[in-house]
Amino acid sequence: MMVQRPIYLDNQATTPVDDRVLAAMLPYFTERFGNPSSVGHIYGWEAEAAIKQAREILASAIHASPEEIIFTSGATEANNLAIKGVAESYFDRGRHIITLQTEHNAVLDPCHYLRSLGFDVTFLPVESDGLIDLNLLEKTLRSDTILVSVMAANNEIGVLQPLEAIGDLCHAHQVLFHTDAAQAIGKIPLDVEAMHIDLMSLTAHKVYAPKGIGALYVRRRNPRVQIAPQIHGGGHERGLRSGTLYPPQIVGFAKAVELAIAEMSSESQRLTELRDRLWQRVSQLDGIQLNGHATQRLPGNLNISIKGIDGQALLLGVQPMIAVSSGSACTSAKIEPSHVLRALGLPDELAYASMRFGIGRFNTVEEVDRAADVVIETVRSLDLKN
Ligand SMILES: *Cc1c(COP(=O)(O)O)cnc(C)c1O
Repeated sequence: MMVQRPIYLDNQATTPVDDRVLAAMLPYFTERFGNPSSVGHIYGWEAEAAIKQAREILASAIHASPEEIIFTSGATEANNLAIKGVAESYFDRGRHIITLQTEHNAVLDPCHYLRSLGFDVTFLPVESDGLIDLNLLEKTLRSDTILVSVMAANNEIGVLQPLEAIGDLCHAHQVLFHTDAAQAIGKIPLDVEAMHIDLMSLTAHKVYAPKGIGALYVRRRNPRVQIAPQIHGGGHERGLRSGTLYPPQIVGFAKAVELAIAEMSSESQRLTELRDRLWQRVSQLDGIQLNGHATQRLPGNLNISIKGIDGQALLLGVQPMIAVSSGSACTSAKIEPSHVLRALGLPDELAYASMRFGIGRFNTVEEVDRAADVVIETVRSLDLKN
C-alpha cells in the first residue's frame, strides 16, 4: 500500500539532495574513487583535481581564495574549529569573546566550554525582532576582546544579521569576526571582503547537498588569522584539519553552492512569495503572531506562535500531512522552549506554541496552500476541544 508522505516543509533542518548534485557526485564513488592525497598515480590526481575545482568554486562563492577554505564534516565542526581554534591561538592577547543569545548550539556550546576553561564570554541579548543591537555590541567590545561570533541567518526564525555593519565595527576595533553561515550560503549574497569577515562556517546539507560535509573559511591576509587545529593527524588542509578528504561530498557541496548562487535571485523571489502567501493565509487565526523580523529574514522561513494553543498537540495534529518543526531541530529531542524565542522575549507559553515552516526548492504553491489549510483546520479542531 502506498502511504502518502507528509509535505516536507522543514528545509531549515535539512534539504533533499538535488538530482544535479547527486549526478556530479556519483563518479567519485565508483571509477574516480582515489585518495586525493595519493600523489603517485592517476587515481589520486583525478580526486585531487576534483577537490581543487570544488575549493575554487566555494571560495569564489564568498569572494575568498581557495587556500582559505578548510573542509570539515559540517558547520558544527567548523564552528568548533573557529571558536576554540581562535581562543587557543589568541589567549595571550585576550580572553573575552562576544556572541548572541540566539546562536545555534554549535556556537553556544563551544563558548560555554571555553568559559569553563577561564575565558570570559558575553552572550548578548537581541532586539524583540531578533536583530543585534549594534550600539550594545560596540559598548561590549573591550581591549581584551579577541572574537565576535554572530550568525548570518538564524535557523529558527530566519533573521538575517547586518554582517557588513558588524564586520566594520570589528575591523575598526581589530577584533576577529566569525559568522556561522550554515543557513545563509546559497540563500543570500556573502562577501568576506566587503563584510570584513575573518572566519565563516559553512555546511552543505541546508543547500541541497548531502550531510556530513562543510567548510571553514579562514582569512589569510589583512589580517592573517591563526587557528589552532582541533583534529590532529596526517596534516591535511595545511595541518588545520587532518583526515582523508571525501571527494564525492566535496564535489556535491561545490555543485550545490554553484547552483544555488546561479538561481539565487529568482529562487529568493519565489520563496518570498510562497512564504508571504502562507503567512497571509494562516494570519487569519486568532492569537497568531510572527516571530522574528518581518522582512529581514530568509526567503522561505516562517516562524509563528499561536496564543492559547498547545504546541505539542498542534505538531501531532499536523504531522500526518505536513513535516514542520517546533523550536530548533537540534534541541527538539528535549521539550524545552526554544532559547531563540525566549531571547526575543516570548513568554514560555508562546514559545511552546510555536511552529517553524522552512519552504524550499522543491515546494509548490499547492503544497503551501495545503499546509495553510492543515494548520488552520488543526488549530480550529484543537480550539473546539478546549
Ligand atoms: C544546521 C546548522 C548548524 C549545524 O550544521 P551541521 O553541518 O549539521 O553540523 C550550525 N549552525 C546553524 C545556523 C545551522 O543551521
